[in-house]
Amino acid sequence: MSLSQGRPYLAIPGPSVMPEEVLRAMHRSAPNIYEGALIEMTAGLIPDLAAVARTKGHVAIYIANGHGAWEAALANTVAAGERVLVPATGRFGHGWAEVARGQGIETQMLDFGKRAPVDPDRLEAALRADTEHKIKAVLATHVDTSTSVLSDVVAIRAAMDAAGHPALLMADCIASLACDRFEMDAWGVDVMVAASQKGLMVPPGLAFVFFSDKAAEARAALPNVSRYWDWTPRATPEMFYQYFGGTAPTHHLYGLRAALDMITAEGIETIWARHDQLARAIWAACDAWGEGGPLELNISDPALRSRAVTALRIGAPHGSSLRKWVEQEAGLTLGIGLGMAEPNDPAWHGFFRIGHMGHVNAHMVMGALGVIEAGFAALDIPHGAGGLSAAARVMAGD
Ligand SMILES: *Cc1c(COP(=O)(O)O)cnc(C)c1O
Repeated sequence: MSLSQGRPYLAIPGPSVMPEEVLRAMHRSAPNIYEGALIEMTAGLIPDLAAVARTKGHVAIYIANGHGAWEAALANTVAAGERVLVPATGRFGHGWAEVARGQGIETQMLDFGKRAPVDPDRLEAALRADTEHKIKAVLATHVDTSTSVLSDVVAIRAAMDAAGHPALLMADCIASLACDRFEMDAWGVDVMVAASQKGLMVPPGLAFVFFSDKAAEARAALPNVSRYWDWTPRATPEMFYQYFGGTAPTHHLYGLRAALDMITAEGIETIWARHDQLARAIWAACDAWGEGGPLELNISDPALRSRAVTALRIGAPHGSSLRKWVEQEAGLTLGIGLGMAEPNDPAWHGFFRIGHMGHVNAHMVMGALGVIEAGFAALDIPHGAGGLSAAARVMAGD
């Protein structure tokens, strides 16, 4: 008999759990897009988004997913034939580079593998070697969602400054925004990309590009920017339709308004602290389980781990069999091991990820950990004892 009937829990690293407040806000009939409440509400989203990103800079919103945000950021800053430097710490740096190549941009890769953050020394050396300043931008992933590694954006900025290089610093915060501490202005980030379906708790469909005055100057220097991606009318609209280059994503905006209200009420510092404590509880359980079995955190140093997603190694076929068991028998969906092995390689079945971004609290995490432990027992996967009590102690503030 399956014990999965009841509220399902999607614990993958995006889309994340949608709060009832967000769903309720979206459940309404179509609003007038020419005048009235929607227009005022949309203007009010902008300062609240900027506050989450910790910037006094500009914001452009797109009807798109994260891939759209990647394309938008590049379309406004780098011309075809120009070069970007891409430090990759997992699947997502390579994804952004693919998008750049599709725009005719030359990509110089710095690959840090699947278990390490950006090494600022290697980045600095690559920038120093670029004596002609051909590199127009550094495309850094703050949290790589496939490996769950967290890179130090402050150190990346310092490496660029030490090299005296004028490239723009762009950060992909699609996984990390409103989960891991991020300070766009204080950390000297020129362009930051995000999307609605992760820490922002809204269904997929909205992409955000935050940009500094320096990035706006790069936009102004380009001979042309494709009309749809151009961030200038979106960030400084004279007419309402210009925010979105056409019809507004009406219901997503209501959802986003509700989510930003929740974020404002809880406070961004508190949200970061909540993600930190819940992540440490998950790591404590995984450490205990790993003492007596094959489970291993992909990133061994806690200082280098994301608080939004945790990538785990458990050996084939346990990763896939565990995911299947917890979904079918317990109503919990875990993330696949993205980019860790090729899908046709048997080793592919040896990984999984826990998403813990956004609208997640202690009982959800304890429930997820509890059914993972039940899955270990049901599938005879060896594991150390005491995982749940280790997590509970972190929850209790020990
Ligand atoms: C999810 C994610 C993306 C891609 O977002 P899509 O909405 O799937 O296009 C890019 N970068 C990071 C770090 C992500 O977590």
